[in-house]
Amino acid sequence: MSQLNPRQREAVRYIDGPLLVLAGAGSGKTSVITQKIAYLVENCGIRANRIAAVTFTNKAAREMRERVGKLLGGGASEGLTVSTFHQLGLKIIRTERRQLGLKNGFSIFDNQDGQALVRDLLVSEHGADGDQAGNIVQRISQWKNDRVLPEQAVAAAQGPAEMLCAQAYLRYQRALRAYNALDFDDLILLPTLLFEEHPDILERWQNQLHYLLVDEYQDTNASQYLLVRQLIGMRGGLTVVGDDDQSIYAWRGARPENLGQLQEDFPGLRVVKLEQNYRSTGRILNAANTLIANNSHLFDKSLWSELGPGEPLRVLQCADEQDEATQVVAEIIDHKLRKGGRYGDYAILYRGNHQSRLLELELQQQQVPYHLSGGTSFFARNEVKDVMAYLRLLLNPDDDNAFLRIANVPRRKLGATTLEALGQFANGVHCSLTAAIGRVDSSQMNEAGLARLREFRNWLDGVRRAVDAGDGIAAVRSMLRDMNYFEWLRSQSSSREVAERRMSNVDFLVDGLQRLMGEDEVGLDEAISRMVLRDLLEQQEEEAAGPESVQLMTLHASKGLEFPHVYIIGMEEKLLPHRSSIDEGNIDEERRLAYVGITRARQSLTMCMARKRRQFGESIDCEPSRFIAELPQDDLRWQGREDDAPEANVKRGQETLAGLKSLLG
Ligand code: ATP
Ligand code: MG
Repeated sequence: MSQLNPRQREAVRYIDGPLLVLAGAGSGKTSVITQKIAYLVENCGIRANRIAAVTFTNKAAREMRERVGKLLGGGASEGLTVSTFHQLGLKIIRTERRQLGLKNGFSIFDNQDGQALVRDLLVSEHGADGDQAGNIVQRISQWKNDRVLPEQAVAAAQGPAEMLCAQAYLRYQRALRAYNALDFDDLILLPTLLFEEHPDILERWQNQLHYLLVDEYQDTNASQYLLVRQLIGMRGGLTVVGDDDQSIYAWRGARPENLGQLQEDFPGLRVVKLEQNYRSTGRILNAANTLIANNSHLFDKSLWSELGPGEPLRVLQCADEQDEATQVVAEIIDHKLRKGGRYGDYAILYRGNHQSRLLELELQQQQVPYHLSGGTSFFARNEVKDVMAYLRLLLNPDDDNAFLRIANVPRRKLGATTLEALGQFANGVHCSLTAAIGRVDSSQMNEAGLARLREFRNWLDGVRRAVDAGDGIAAVRSMLRDMNYFEWLRSQSSSREVAERRMSNVDFLVDGLQRLMGEDEVGLDEAISRMVLRDLLEQQEEEAAGPESVQLMTLHASKGLEFPHVYIIGMEEKLLPHRSSIDEGNIDEERRLAYVGITRARQSLTMCMARKRRQFGESIDCEPSRFIAELPQDDLRWQGREDDAPEANVKRGQETLAGLKSLLG
């Protein structure tokens, strides 16, 4: 507390009504939240279990929980809720499950599940092209985030394309219901709808929650904002912090206007602005301020730093994307060697996930430890999806999506005709596929197929009984053995190594569940839904990453974080700003993304670009990003500009590496 500046202290101590802390990057907004939680517990006599803090990512939530734990010490922080909006929503849904008409063991669908479902509906019911599923799922998500219900979407639809979307939404929602399933957006939407319909339930939650704190407020969507307003009610125990210049999730329904809306909805709102930046050196900060001055703002703010001017910013022009990867990695090795420090002090940021591939190869080749956040998520891997589908089906026999995914994994000779006949029957009598197996008879389908379906169902029932009887994890392990899942993986993999990696992913998943159940004393069902929200796995991956790995992530994922040395690659037109945003004339959001990237850096910032880049098998010319031209030019040091021969650059990179290697012996 003594470290805080007077404004920060004011924000921490103000508890008489709702408070908005509005401030630029690195000014200590997140620090205010952490300190305030401790203050509320220690000085205001509010018990930790009456306080909830909402952050944007699991990683941020985890860090905050740790920091508060340290500040408070002992068991004083016990019962404190620090979570993402989705986790908070899940908590409410779990508690109010019956009221919401959900059966025990409900499933949570991710984006891929959603797309599979929509594809199915499009093809089977509308005879439409399944390729549109991705777009439609995105549209459905927008509707949900804007609190538009399926019937309303249908009523408002204009034109056949929009109508198809709205109809798909309607059917999608019905199918989710039938499957006893929710998607990610429902985790927020359902609680808000429930609270609207049942003031008594809302009152119970309001009485339980005495103080709510929200980080990264600029990226809340309409549903999330409503949830905040509902939970707070008249009590006014609310602190939100945000920076409209860092709003980078408009495409996911975020509404930076929510910052302004607060003032209207809470007339007594106190606003505190923070202006001192504690993160970055003067030149980095100046670059960020100058860049973002090109945007229009909701609120004016100016940031200054006492950390001295620091090094100039570097702009590295490379021959092509390979050269870019080579140079960045060579530089990091070189820099670390000369300055000491750790690989974890370096972050490489980029606009799109695909940009990480060459970097990964290069880092592997040079034996530099690295950690990739996001990317191909653990849950997108086939074997993980399979096992998750089994788990979902165990808990929720009505989860048809899960059923269809694994009916033939490993192969059970359940042919398409059998499954189709089953599906038709289930549709006709309005029940799930699993339920249909018990009701269908051989007049409706082939005898042998039916026998296999029954065998499958009986087997699953047996596993389910074993899970219910006690040791869920042991039952899951024996299920995997029983169906020879590992042999199946081996037969499906191109090499032994691939097979082994996949098996270890499955082990990792089951071990993770076990740990979660042990630590938090929850049942298999809850452990699984937490797992779906990534909680545990991200944690384990982060831990495995440790401080000794170069951090690779998208600009979006870097929000809220800081690193001594930052490289932003692909500072080119059509990459940053992204082509689609140029086409849509939505440059401001891209500029904010660049602003987020620049303000992650504490001591040094290097921006890289390629002169040529391969795209769809063709080499195309690239232009430096317009954002480079918007930075204070006197503070930039160019390297490898046009007049340098590209070959010389590549050579220089290689020489640096060779030199370093000989140095290292
Ligand atoms: P962002 O907008 O990127 O989320 P932020 O406003 O949340 O940034 P923090 O991450 O809370 O900023 O703080 C940035 C850095 O400044 C952290 O390293 C933090 O420890 C440090 N810091 C914050 N307040 C102070 C202070 N009063 N004295 C010294 N250091 C501080
Ligand atoms: Mg922050």
